[in-house]
Amino acid sequence: MTSITRGRPSSSTWTNWARTTSATPRRRASPADEAELSALVAGAAEDGLRVRAVGAGHSFTPAAVTDGLLLDLDRLAMVERIARTRSGVEVTVGAGMRLHRLNEVLAAAGLAMRNLGDIDRQSVAGAISTGTHGTGARLGGLCTAVRGLRVVGADGSVVDADEARHPELFAASRLGLGTTGILSSVTLEVVPAFLLRAQEEPWPLDRVLAELDGPDGLVDANDHVEFYWFPHTRRALTKRNNRLSPDEEAAAVRRLADHGPGTVARARTWIDEELLSNGAFEVVNRVATALPRATARLNAVSARALAPRTYVAPSHEVFVTSRRVRFREMEYAIGREHLADALGAVEDWLRTSGEHVPFPVEVRFAAADDVWLSTAHGRPTAYVAVHQYARLPYARYFAAVERIMTERGGRPHWGKLHGLDAGRLGQLYPRFEDFRAVRDTADPRGVFANDYTDRVLGRPGYSGSTTNEWT
Ligand SMILES: Cc1cc2nc3c(=O)[nH]c(=O)nc-3n(C[C@H](O)[C@H](O)[C@H](O)COP(=O)(O)OP(=O)(O)OC[C@H]3O[C@@H](n4cnc5c(N)ncnc54)[C@H](O)[C@@H]3O)c2cc1C
Repeated sequence: MTSITRGRPSSSTWTNWARTTSATPRRRASPADEAELSALVAGAAEDGLRVRAVGAGHSFTPAAVTDGLLLDLDRLAMVERIARTRSGVEVTVGAGMRLHRLNEVLAAAGLAMRNLGDIDRQSVAGAISTGTHGTGARLGGLCTAVRGLRVVGADGSVVDADEARHPELFAASRLGLGTTGILSSVTLEVVPAFLLRAQEEPWPLDRVLAELDGPDGLVDANDHVEFYWFPHTRRALTKRNNRLSPDEEAAAVRRLADHGPGTVARARTWIDEELLSNGAFEVVNRVATALPRATARLNAVSARALAPRTYVAPSHEVFVTSRRVRFREMEYAIGREHLADALGAVEDWLRTSGEHVPFPVEVRFAAADDVWLSTAHGRPTAYVAVHQYARLPYARYFAAVERIMTERGGRPHWGKLHGLDAGRLGQLYPRFEDFRAVRDTADPRGVFANDYTDRVLGRPGYSGSTTNEWT
């Protein structure tokens, strides 16, 4: 056995960012190029091992876990091509490229992703494979920007898949949890670089809910809107990010050129970086852990400490924050029309359960899309994300919120904690069986499966029984 074609024998343990899951694979490898990747996959499959790729390990679920060969594609992270097409601009990158590097590459070329999530640590392949999304009622998640993929099969073959070539494999692999093969490169549609005006304001929750809908409502009148509701209070932090008009953009570019990018960095420090995400927030959570009954008062203080601010910055700097406080997260996608009712039910449960939750509940939006396993498939979507500090128990809170969301047709984020299985998920996705048919053709022996994908997507012979991660 050579280490080139078989990978390193391994006894070391891999752990994800949230420390909710780990794996001790038999082999690990970090291929330098696609030829090595395909030899590694074929070699492992010949030896009867299962194969998974890992990106940045930022999924909370055991999506990337394997007992066989664990591939890290950090070295497959180059820019292969930037091309103007009839419909816009496309960039093809190695599947292991991290989003922060992609943003740098795009910015240097005067380009940007149309939309992004909260952080930029993930790999391109990991982000699209689990349905990573940002916010924007007219926009889809990252997988909706995918225009082409190169997929390595269990026999080591490499297939180019897009709308014209192997369209079904393309449809399944845009968001397929890595079960149709290992993605070696990803082609993304990108847009000319743009600036966003960020407006952050604390609002009473009742005002947020009253102004959400309608043509001039918060969600449809802004390019990107989200809010953080502080549990045990009636306060929320609203974030509205909007593209500038051409005149506004010209003026903002002059201002940025005069004052330098440091003005942006300084403007960002307090609310986002400290109070919602980092140093001060860690302290709030530690106090709440030691004194759970103080949580409601701490949340009220945090919510009152938020001050309004407006700033202008390049889009990726506005979208992305850094998250140093470790937490556990579950996120559900529900039809937009259910949002107010669902939040009311969560609030009722918190009031009666005695549970103490120091982390804000995050609400975001997306347009309906047609990606088979997208959580926004076929319906305008509201995302409700619940978090719990890593030192606090989360199972009871998440199980209660899961009940509330599933009663309203909610679909869980594929990379975040949840307790659903293929039997339940199949009822939520109209193209679920199409997905499984393509997956079974691409990988009949389950080389790219693991226990998590067996649970959520099922294997041939799957019994349909319900397992629940919280119990
Ligand atoms: C702090 C934090 C913030 C987050 N913010 C957001 C957010 O704003 N919006 C959102 O939607 N989600 C968010 N997430 C969730 C996160 O975006 C997803 O879980 C994403 O999958 C993580 O990307 P990754 O590169 O770490 O992938 P991993 O977790 O390493 O892998 C995810 C899946 O992709 C598969 N995979 C990875 N590489 C390949 C490949 N080359 N070929 C085939 N399959 C592959 C893995 O096997 C696994 O199934 C956040 C998570 C954290 C921890």
